[in-house]
Amino acid sequence: MSFESLGLRAELLRAVSEQGYSEPTPIQEQAIPTILAGRDLLAGAQTGTGKTAGFTLPLLQRLLATPSAAGETKEKGWRPVRALILAPTRELAAQVRDSVATYGRYLPLRSTAVFGGVNIKPQIQNLRRGVDILVATPGRLEDHVQQRTVDLRNVEILVLDEADRMLDMGFLPVMKRIMALLPKQRQNLLLSATVSNEIRTLAQGLLRDPQLIQIARISSPAENVTQLVHPVDKDRRRELLAHLITEQNWRQVLVFTRMKFGAEKLANQLDRAGLQATAIHGNKNQNQRTRALADFKSGRVRVLVATDVASRGLDIEQLPHVVNYELPLDAESYVHRIGRTGRAGLKGAAVSLVSADEADLLADIERLIGSEIPRRNVPGFEPLAALVTTGAKGGSRGGKSRPGHHAHAPHKSRGEQKPHWHRRSEQKRGGRSRRGNSR
Ligand code: AMP
Repeated sequence: MSFESLGLRAELLRAVSEQGYSEPTPIQEQAIPTILAGRDLLAGAQTGTGKTAGFTLPLLQRLLATPSAAGETKEKGWRPVRALILAPTRELAAQVRDSVATYGRYLPLRSTAVFGGVNIKPQIQNLRRGVDILVATPGRLEDHVQQRTVDLRNVEILVLDEADRMLDMGFLPVMKRIMALLPKQRQNLLLSATVSNEIRTLAQGLLRDPQLIQIARISSPAENVTQLVHPVDKDRRRELLAHLITEQNWRQVLVFTRMKFGAEKLANQLDRAGLQATAIHGNKNQNQRTRALADFKSGRVRVLVATDVASRGLDIEQLPHVVNYELPLDAESYVHRIGRTGRAGLKGAAVSLVSADEADLLADIERLIGSEIPRRNVPGFEPLAALVTTGAKGGSRGGKSRPGHHAHAPHKSRGEQKPHWHRRSEQKRGGRSRRGNSR
């Protein structure tokens, strides 16, 4: 299956291929033709499945295919909002806005995002200039509605992204008030990580003859990857990492940190300690990344420190060691991270250096993968603060934790397929990160 065969126009195909995507993900395969045909959609799919491109690409194409009903006023520069995408958090809204901008790069459509926690004035100015696609969190959108700085009477497509999370956050009443302002005749797309009874009820009231799509979670690490947790005190993490690399004579190790700054600092420190290391993250330009990767592959550099985002486009065959220097904030990233090793059936080892304050994150990961990762103290690095994971409830880490995880029984996630598209497409991709920044 190719993007071409899904019926997308050349401008979108160009943007997609520039992102390095060689084939559509399962949700994209199913959602794109459905949305292009103008149908409503209910998709059970979470972050990491490619859902954003799955609804953004056909949405852009539909807007372009049908001229705006209010088109005659265009010469005055006024453009009505024709597609409204509601998202639970500002982080997600900003991400979706970036995706819309990326995939719509070669189309004459305008988009912006409005969300809380930032000054409303620039948002008002953006809205006044006119946008075709508006990404919004419900609360801030309602502020705009009340201030009459947005007009929703021309919305043709409504997208509810991470709808379960919006319900969890108590947005249902606001969402209903907003939806009441939209034209009745429109296309509705509902995306949700979990399809609970509440979501079904919402869908029933909202969707007309929807196409249903359910995409399996990304939850099972490859079996040929051994996983290990080394409990350690936070302030001894770096020392432990250096010890492991030297002691076990790792020649090629990919180390994950959460932040760009942390990646850079760690790489510098390791390098100064005589372990050839370099960092790859969103602040590095394409040349720097390419060079870092080439040095790593050739063995000139022994340790590559990366953030999650920067690591996504990395194409490294036969990577024997992956280290989680810090655990990721969302459990799925753990699966993605350790999926960098053990490719093509080769053996791989994934080691996580976990401090006591990360116990909840570890519990989330273990719940997702459906098994406990063995703990092993490294002699000389036994932590003073014990690592205790007693079925932590999670959900306390603000915007980053993904909905659905906590309700998910461990055994359910077992044995689900690892999405093959991720591997194949990543292997063909250049060393570029899609969003090219953050984390
Ligand atoms: P999402 O589920 O929308 O958050 O997307 C997860 C990640 O997959 C994002 O970093 C996308 O850039 C990436 N992605 C989306 N579609 C594809 C594709 N067809 N091939 C490879 N990566 C993709």
